Amino acid sequence: MNKLLERTGHVITGMGLVTFALLMILIGMMVISHGLFVRIFTDVLEPAHASAAAWALALGWEFTVLITTCNVRFVNRRLPLVLAICSGVIVLFFIHAFDTTQSTTDLLTRLLVGCLITTINYVYAELFYAKWTEHNQQVGYENQVKSLAQESDKRQTEIQVAKQELQSKKSEIEMLRKQVTELEQFKANEIRKLTCSCGKQFETVYKLTSHKASCPNRKTVSRNGQPVNFVP
Ligand SMILES: [Zn+2]
Repeated sequence: MNKLLERTGHVITGMGLVTFALLMILIGMMVISHGLFVRIFTDVLEPAHASAAAWALALGWEFTVLITTCNVRFVNRRLPLVLAICSGVIVLFFIHAFDTTQSTTDLLTRLLVGCLITTINYVYAELFYAKWTEHNQQVGYENQVKSLAQESDKRQTEIQVAKQELQSKKSEIEMLRKQVTELEQFKANEIRKLTCSCGKQFETVYKLTSHKASCPNRKTVSRNGQPVNFVP
């Protein structure tokens, strides 16, 4: 039930119903314009020609109203109002609203109908333009959201690739760090091998050995197996 009401609400407030109502007004006004034009043209043209000319002009006039309404941003903003008033005047002439031989009631009724149609024309022209602008904005926003979502997906993929790359570099760094530690240990061992107990460091084992012979820190082994310093 709620869904039905929601859908009905969408139909009423949507672009479709406004367009439908505008087309109905357009068709009605086309018939009325044709009626007025044909009445005038019959005085100067053959009936068939008068009818053809009246249909062509009525069609042209009403489409001018419609196209101007839809493209009001390119023309003066008050033009739809002027066109609505013109449509109202056409209706007034068509229904003989200025014929003063009628009773006051008839005259007022006709004037009321003319004013009503003018108002409807103007309101719908404004409403159609506003809804059309809103519709275009909505489509624009939807496209923008789609575009941003695509951009976001692209960035997410890039971030994922960068994360994987970072992980790989971290592993490489860890491996290199281990190698450096091993090399440092190896270097320390080599230095220790080439260092005498007195603290002097030599470039080769040969030099170290020859130094040890005269090293003041030279150690000898006593009878009980304990090292003792050799004093020359
Ligand atoms: Zn030494």
